[in-house]
Amino acid sequence: MAYTYDDQNIFAKILRGEIPNDTVLETDHSLAFNDIRPQAPVHVLVIPKGAYVNYDDFARNASDAEILDFTRAIGEVCKMKGVETDGFRTISNAGQHGVQEVPHLHIHILGGRPLGRMLQQG
Ligand code: 5GP
Repeated sequence: MAYTYDDQNIFAKILRGEIPNDTVLETDHSLAFNDIRPQAPVHVLVIPKGAYVNYDDFARNASDAEILDFTRAIGEVCKMKGVETDGFRTISNAGQHGVQEVPHLHIHILGGRPLGRMLQQG
């Protein structure tokens, strides 16, 4: 499937510096920042700088350098936030069934408290 990227989405605006963010980490190909509505003591979003709609789009179309950088950035944020010991959860929502609010790939890193079971019922 070919995805259509909307360059007016909020994370595209963050990447262009049009709206502020609380940056945790910036690398060559990735940006990590705190979620504006945190759902756990640690709630960081990691995004690629490239225009990818979701993880499927990224996995198919990103360069090896982008994929390596993004994956390492996720690990680095886990280390920076100290969630490796007690555990954490990574989530990437996609599309309508995934209830994706912002159509630019982002990985949620959640931690800092017990997070409960993986999915809500219903
Ligand atoms: P999704 O449902 O797309 O996986 O999650 C989007 C996330 O982006 C939500 O957790 C929401 O709180 C966060 N978010 C939406 N707008 C902004 C913003 O302007 N700044 C930041 N830092 N996070 C945002």
